[in-house]
Amino acid sequence: MNADVITSTTYPHGTIEGFQGGCNTAHCPAEVSCRTVHTRYVGDWAFRRQINAGMTPAQIVAAERKQAQEAADADLRAKKAKGSQRSAETRDAARERHNAARRAKRAANLIPQKALIPRDKLAALLDRGLTDRQIGERLGFTRRQVAGARNTAKLPRNPDSNRRPAPATTGASS
Ligand SMILES: [Zn+2]
Repeated sequence: MNADVITSTTYPHGTIEGFQGGCNTAHCPAEVSCRTVHTRYVGDWAFRRQINAGMTPAQIVAAERKQAQEAADADLRAKKAKGSQRSAETRDAARERHNAARRAKRAANLIPQKALIPRDKLAALLDRGLTDRQIGERLGFTRRQVAGARNTAKLPRNPDSNRRPAPATTGASS
């Protein structure tokens, strides 16, 4: 791909057209990269339906984030309720709450992990040689969450053969 495509202010980044036009690497500047849009458009029926209905990828992802956040909030509320109201609630209510939390968790797993860590930030940390675990320690995520985000972003992992703690010297400017 021509580097001009990346820096161009008029190129339709974050669209199917952008991908077809040749923006197919991890360097896409759009919030939802052309490649991600293409991948999801091809493999995700709901995503494709929303695109075809006129939503932008950014709008779809924003809605998914909101949904995931709401699910997480409900989950958190449920956990809190479990602590304070255990004695007051019926068994049915407990079961329903448990199921709701499980549904929320499942829904959250369907959300692209990209939402968790901005792709450019993740790419920058990987460029510095940090492993998933180190990035997780730095950002407050589990190694698995980072790996998921990285896989979604299709970024290569840094080998974690050396299990020292993350270096505390490199101050992130981002
Ligand atoms: Zn692009």
